[in-house]
Amino acid sequence: MSVDELYREVILDHFQNPRNKGHLKTCDFHEKGENPLCGDSIDLYFIFDNDIIKDIKFEGNGCSISQASVSMMTEAIKGKPIKEIKAIIELFKEMMLEDKINPFKDNFDLEDLGALEGVKNYPVRIKCALLAWNTLSELFKKIAEKKP
Ligand code: ZN
Repeated sequence: MSVDELYREVILDHFQNPRNKGHLKTCDFHEKGENPLCGDSIDLYFIFDNDIIKDIKFEGNGCSISQASVSMMTEAIKGKPIKEIKAIIELFKEMMLEDKINPFKDNFDLEDLGALEGVKNYPVRIKCALLAWNTLSELFKKIAEKKP
């Protein structure tokens, strides 16, 4: 199996068997994200324990890239502190928007994220891959603004 095929399998697996999909009845934060260009939409629900994302769930509709990406993101950030998550967001955006090669390769915990690197070759789909991550950044911005 080539690397491309392997990555396609990882994306398909997250699309067909999404991680952390569902609703949190009581949550600390809810953030909605949309990508009208493709018709993707997601809702993220968070439970925080101080600065750690204790639980996260998502609901969503859209293309396989956007839905696989949000599934991967929830898996990558659950149980981690905001500071660490911000660093992961940066690495992911650099991989998708700059010439940086897959920084997640030897990171067992975040390995799946690297499967989206190939999306770079399809510029119209980059927004699909980034939707979940931009929505998360938006939430962090709001949280930071609320703090004195
Ligand atoms: Zn899309």
